[in-house]
Parts: sequence; structure tokens; C-alpha cells
Amino acid sequence: MGIALFTLGGTISMAGAARLDGAALTAAVPGLETLDEPLDIQDLEPVGSGSLTFAQVLAVAESASAAVRAGAPGVVITQGTDTLEETAYLLDLVWAQDAPLVLTGAMRNPTLAGPDGPANLLAAARVAAAAPARGLGALVVFNDEIHAARWVRKTHSTSTATFVSPDTGPLGHVIEGRVRVLTAPVRCAPLPPPTAGARVALYTVTLDDDPDTLTALAAGQDAVVLAGFGVGHVPAVLVPALAELAARMPVVLTSRTGAGSVLRSTYRSPGSETELLSHGLIDGGLLHPYKARVLLRLLLGSGADRDAVAAAFAERG
Ligand code: GLU
Repeated sequence: MGIALFTLGGTISMAGAARLDGAALTAAVPGLETLDEPLDIQDLEPVGSGSLTFAQVLAVAESASAAVRAGAPGVVITQGTDTLEETAYLLDLVWAQDAPLVLTGAMRNPTLAGPDGPANLLAAARVAAAAPARGLGALVVFNDEIHAARWVRKTHSTSTATFVSPDTGPLGHVIEGRVRVLTAPVRCAPLPPPTAGARVALYTVTLDDDPDTLTALAAGQDAVVLAGFGVGHVPAVLVPALAELAARMPVVLTSRTGAGSVLRSTYRSPGSETELLSHGLIDGGLLHPYKARVLLRLLLGSGADRDAVAAAFAERG
């Protein structure tokens, strides 16, 4: 059995009004015929990545697992880039296989000069088939770089070099068609798929912020991810509202900076990380707010209570 290719949509498949299916996508890739493994194509609903749901992504994970159980050495998923840093992490959290699960897409559509989709698809297929990529979980292959789903970010609205891993750098590269894995991410045990939905809001603090905005956003939510300033700070005026919220639901503290960790015990001023943690906020560690939201929603969807959430963030944050 060949590498399983699942296509979802996004810029990689947008040829004007027409949508390229997997057969058309692969036909446009010079060099694909040199792969040892053929691609077994399964076209899924061509939904824009901004409209993907957790349920759709988890269904792809299930189909990908089934393909691996049936003998596929690896899996490639093509989708839009807009939510790829989140879908890749969600897939990574539930992926229980050694086989590589590789996501890719494109920033320049097939009608433009120099579309990047064909090169990305070829590189992704090479990684999906590569022995050194086994056991690394979900990967994002773009611009001949291999990124861990846990760390990768979309950092530019149009650049073909948009995907970077600010905290770690890429795990490896595809060089002259050869897959070079230079470092391996720490892997945690796969999480069970959720059995219920959960509402998790993301709130980013801003200059001269207002507690009423936070309180209004949190109404009706099951949990909140807070993207604080720097190492995990908020305006002092938000602290009573956050303390009240953290007494009622999990509130995970992350940094809005996009790289680095929130701290635990360096600052003690009003609105500092020390004060927020003393009020019961959960330390999000190095997790980017978008990824923290994915993890929190997955945990709550399988019934995790506050202590289980805190333990999971201590392990994965
Ligand atoms: N906005 C579209 C999506 O995320 C296209 C983005 C892309 O493929 O780069 O599906």
C-alpha cells in the first residue's frame, strides 16, 4: 500500500474558480513518480481551513489511522494554511501511530508564477515515506523544512516561508530529495478523542484593558485561555475578574508574544504571573495561546477536571 494522501482544500488546490482534486494536484508535481511509494488519494470535503471543525479534523485522524492500520507507511494531508498550526497540533495530540502524519499546503495558488504547492507536496510525501520521520508525531512540511506540530507557527500572511518554529527551529530539512531529521521532539502519550464538545475562549490582553470585556467574553464558556503580556502579566485592574473566573473554570495563562514561556515566580507586582497563579490560573508554559486552546478543548471534551487540566499542561506546556 502507498502513502495515504488526504486532500481538504486551501490555496494549494485553488485554480481560479476550479478546485484541484488529489489527482490533479499530484499530476502537477514533477518528480512524484520517483517516489518509492505511490500515493493513495482520498479527496475529502474541500473546506477552507478557516471553516474546519474539531470534528472534521478528528475524523481525518481516524481515517489516517485506518490507512496506516491497512498498511500505509505514512500519511499526507493537504489543507489551507490559515489554521494549519492548530489542526496539526490537534492531530498530533491524538496520533497514536509511529507512521509520520504530514501536513502541507501552499501560499501561492497554482495559477500564479512559482506556486509552492507542488514542491511542498513532493517534500511532504518524501517525509511521510521516510524511516527517520517515524515516531515524530504530526509534522508540517513546508518550504523544504520539517516542523513539529507542537511548535510550528504561521507567522506571515503571504510569505512562502511563513511556517517557523520560533522556540525550536525546524526538526530537519528535505535536501536534494533526501529527508534529514536533525532533532526529535519530546513526545507525550496520545490523548483520547473527545466524547463531548467544550467551549473555550481565547482572550488576549491589551493596553488599558477593561475587565468587563473579559467577563462578557467568558460568559457561557467552559474555560478560558488568557494570552497575557510578556511572561504572563495583565493590567492590575483585570485581576479580580480573573480570580473570580479561575474559581469557576480552568483559566490557562499563556504569553501573547508568540515565543518563550510564561514565568512562575519572577515578578510579584499587581497583575504579575505570581499573583495570577496564586489565584488559581494554570501555567501554560511554552504553549502558544492557539495551541493551548486546542489542548484545553480536547481535555475538557474527554471530561478532564481542573486538576487533570493542570497536570496535562504541566506535562505538555
Ligand atoms: N484561507 C484559505 C484556507 O485557509 C487559504 C489559505 C491557504 O491555503 O494558504 O483554507
